[in-house]
Amino acid sequence: MDENEQNWQESANCLGVDPDLFFPERGASTREAKEVCRGCVVRGECLEYALVNGEKFGIWGGLSERERRRLPPDPRDARFDRAILSEVQTLPFRFRNSA
Ligand code: SF4
Repeated sequence: MDENEQNWQESANCLGVDPDLFFPERGASTREAKEVCRGCVVRGECLEYALVNGEKFGIWGGLSERERRRLPPDPRDARFDRAILSEVQTLPFRFRNSA
């Protein structure tokens, strides 16, 4: 893992935002959290982190638990990269580096 990958959280839109916003009670609105994620430049890294680490709760990469469950959780699955790319507006660093 290079320095960019380790430090992606420093570029997060949610820095300084109340973390409770991203872990709403069951049935509560996720709209506000998703608004914060919408323009986040590390959305790809965030979503990838959640999938790789099996994060069960909260909004990650702008997706809810239910939305993430539809994505392949295994990075070795060829569909994993395609799923991340199709869900986020920005490319994770590893895609940028290989472009
Ligand atoms: S995509 Fe992840 S890092 Fe970015 S604002 Fe949303 S929760 Fe924070």
